[in-house]
Amino acid sequence: MAEDCLFCRIIRQEIPAKLVFEDEHCVAFRDINPQAPVHVLVVPRDHVPSLNQAHNPAMLGHLQLAAAEIAKREGIAEPGYRTVINTNRGAGQTVFHIHLHLLGGRDLGWPPG
Ligand code: 5GP
Ligand code: ZN
Repeated sequence: MAEDCLFCRIIRQEIPAKLVFEDEHCVAFRDINPQAPVHVLVVPRDHVPSLNQAHNPAMLGHLQLAAAEIAKREGIAEPGYRTVINTNRGAGQTVFHIHLHLLGGRDLGWPPG
């Protein structure tokens, strides 16, 4: 846990968020500025700043499988969805607590910007 990290504070319920899923390893909530009809952030309970500092394959796999489960529950598994981890500022990372974006509910262009 990092004291002043936004996502640690959401996990500690100090800041409100629309939770859609949680288990012992991760919490998932709706993005405050959604880029698609379904835009959920899946974050590990452990504070890891970015993929560059990640060492736990099980944690990373857990985020992906949690996203797949949420996609099923949100009804976007069949039409399709995208999972994205932005790493560092050049890729648009703004919150330095690793998180996986789950996007769906519309056609998603490729390549992303
Ligand atoms: P990044 O740009 O780091 O990959 O993603 C950070 C995401 O967090 C952005 O999509 C942004 O809209 C979202 N976000 C920033 N602040 C908050 C907040 O206070 N609550 C929620 N639910 N999402 C946030
Ligand atoms: Zn954190």
